[in-house]
Amino acid sequence: MPLSKRRTLTQYLIEERRRFPEASGALNALILDVALAAKAISRAVSFGELGDPMSAQLIAAAQTHEPVVNVQGEVQKALDVVSNEIFLRTSEWGGHLAGMGSEEMEAPYQIPAQYPRGKYLLVFDPLDGSSNIDVNVSVGSIFSILRAPEEVIASGRDVTAADFLQPGATQVAAGYAIYGPATMLVITVGNGVAGFTLDHNVGEFKLTHPNIRVPADAQEFAINSSNARFWEPPVKRYVDECLAGKTGPRGKDFNMRWIASLVAEAHRILMRGGVFMYPKDTKDPSKPGRLRLLYEANPIGFIMEQAGGRVSTGRESVLGVQPTSLHQRIGLIFGSKNEVERIEHYHAEYDAGTDKPYVSPLFNERSLFRPEALT
Ligand code: MN
Ligand code: MN
Repeated sequence: MPLSKRRTLTQYLIEERRRFPEASGALNALILDVALAAKAISRAVSFGELGDPMSAQLIAAAQTHEPVVNVQGEVQKALDVVSNEIFLRTSEWGGHLAGMGSEEMEAPYQIPAQYPRGKYLLVFDPLDGSSNIDVNVSVGSIFSILRAPEEVIASGRDVTAADFLQPGATQVAAGYAIYGPATMLVITVGNGVAGFTLDHNVGEFKLTHPNIRVPADAQEFAINSSNARFWEPPVKRYVDECLAGKTGPRGKDFNMRWIASLVAEAHRILMRGGVFMYPKDTKDPSKPGRLRLLYEANPIGFIMEQAGGRVSTGRESVLGVQPTSLHQRIGLIFGSKNEVERIEHYHAEYDAGTDKPYVSPLFNERSLFRPEALT
């Protein structure tokens, strides 16, 4: 079998680095470690209910340092743990990291004493959409690479959660892997977005989607409508206008999508445009949104903006938000630029009180939009 002419991830990273001769190469090495994690997780999830012998070993190993891991009949939980272990093992040894943060670990992970420490921080959601595992829908992994604070690099001390609390705009690199019919890795190092497909023949990611761009306009939106009664009025207004279709204020029909797997939604939008919303709502006032800022919203947002799309809370760019805790949640809206800007505009009008003449074209029930009905 002749090797294809497509560039491998390694080749792509080396050639990108040649354009920035001052770059150390540590970042490339770290991204390749993460890519190895993606390959291993891709394989682990592909066994489904059969279970993967390697995964069983990792679960056993994890049980020695995790308090309680219920593997009995909880395949999805087991794979969360397996994926977390894979990320730790593939990334801890290389000397590029000062520490790691994971959705699966309350506290930051310290690089073990036998390995050198480096200048980057890696934050990740090792298995995103894992509640979809048992229905065999696409899942993924999401990662974000930050620079550790100078004082951490200089001292080599243990990391604290505070070291990770940097706005998304400071990310050095970010990406996700999607484990669908094909396994893909989509990354940005701040210079556009590139997509790679896992070539099982040679076990390498090959560049299949150079310079991905999100179309500025879209006719697809994704939101969990079962939360409609908790939405803020500007979100309800946007969705109502989409639903009103050709005869409504937008003058065109929209399609609705909802996979309930963030990576799968982001990937669809990256490939063909659209908008995704998991906005802040009134369901549980103690939770400002559902998705996690540091290892979901920021990396997906960085990729969207690098692809010409936009990411927002509805009121500000997600990438400008100063995090206050490692596992902080946030309202998340991203996708095609013009649609996200329209939603931001609706929030601004609502906050300024200039959207009062607006009445839902579909439900025509003013009471739904009285602010006092929503507090
Ligand atoms: Mn997730
Ligand atoms: Mn997860």
